[in-house]
Amino acid sequence: MTARIAIFGDLLDFTAEPDWGDTLSSSVRWRPAHWLLVEGGRIVAVQADAPDASWQRHDHAGRLVLPGFIDSHVHSPQLDVIASYGTELLDWLHTYTFPAEQRHADPAQAEAVATLFLDALLAHGTTAAVVFPTVHKVSAEALFSAAQQRGMRLVAGKVLMDRHAPEGLRDDVVQAERDCRDLIARWHGRERLAYAVTVRFAPTSTPQQLAMAGRLCAEDPTLYMQTHVAENPDEVRWVAELFPKARSYLDVYERHGLLNQRSVLAHGIWLDAADRARLHTLGAQIAFCPSSNLFLGSGLFGWAATEDAGVGISLASDVGGGTSLSMQRTLADGYKVQALAGTKLSAWALLHAATRGAAQALGLSHEIGSLEGGTVADLCVWDWAGSAVARRRQQVARDLHEKVFAWITLGDERDLVETWVAGVRRHRRDGVR
Ligand SMILES: [Zn+2]
Repeated sequence: MTARIAIFGDLLDFTAEPDWGDTLSSSVRWRPAHWLLVEGGRIVAVQADAPDASWQRHDHAGRLVLPGFIDSHVHSPQLDVIASYGTELLDWLHTYTFPAEQRHADPAQAEAVATLFLDALLAHGTTAAVVFPTVHKVSAEALFSAAQQRGMRLVAGKVLMDRHAPEGLRDDVVQAERDCRDLIARWHGRERLAYAVTVRFAPTSTPQQLAMAGRLCAEDPTLYMQTHVAENPDEVRWVAELFPKARSYLDVYERHGLLNQRSVLAHGIWLDAADRARLHTLGAQIAFCPSSNLFLGSGLFGWAATEDAGVGISLASDVGGGTSLSMQRTLADGYKVQALAGTKLSAWALLHAATRGAAQALGLSHEIGSLEGGTVADLCVWDWAGSAVARRRQQVARDLHEKVFAWITLGDERDLVETWVAGVRRHRRDGVR
């Protein structure tokens, strides 16, 4: 018999995309002191009345229940270089990241870090992610296998990189294609796993490798594609030198057949209006990585212009360029980046982008991103406040938006009480009542 689980708390999710800056948005679904019923790993009902004794009850009165966060761009091997001092993107790759990624040729290392990484995501309230492992096939294997063991929704793929990278981190077109096809055959569409054709970024793939990646995408439109675009001005100049015929950095990917509705492009800071129009037409989305953009000094992402162009935006930690796996911290940084860019993001716009918005952009809203009946029970239970200062701030908050905005701005993973994945509790804070 499948477990029947009932979780009680203050339920918050979205039924539509909130309008920019609308703190009273009717798209917010707020159901305080409700029971969320889970059966067979899926949400089957939400109700105010307590269910009968056939349900295993988990009473979290006074706590916040949210859909699990979706981190749309993060690097599992870069836990080893998080919080590394003193560089911008291209330096940072050569000084810190590439040496660290070389370790993942070793299956034991790859497995240990995949386990550590996914458990860390769960301990930060993130239940689904779009992930870069390394160029090594074993690193993708380890990640898929560990995600399968945890029942997680994961999109990932072996990194493609056949030039401008050190020995031991380069593949070649023939071997890379063979590895991709093998990984796709074994992992794509298996349980909650999906394969992403994973181009690190334009400078580290030859045109021949980009063309191979494009062929894979064309052969199977259910595959995802993930890469980086227009993160840093020096990087943009380098791409222009390497691909003189392309109109723009983004155009390099379009020319090679890499842009479609399943493309997740990290950063997109230095795009122009023509690029944004192409993204809209092709249905590709941007993963906004505010912590990383601040830490590496990359620039201020133009959320307003991107949203106005009709391009989907999700939020991403981009660890290890980003300095925390916490999506609260990522959202708070997103607010600050947009404040510097001259706009103010509501708590609703931020929270939506890290849950329902990301799910929609990934074509997964039937499965994740909300507390809608029929979706998979990926959800988290949170304390409203984890410190005396945050408690005081919550006490004096005048409305729901103010409460949630303060929760985002003052909070982090220490507020997390429990993480549920497909109706199974996968993380529980020590000493929880
Ligand atoms: Zn990245």
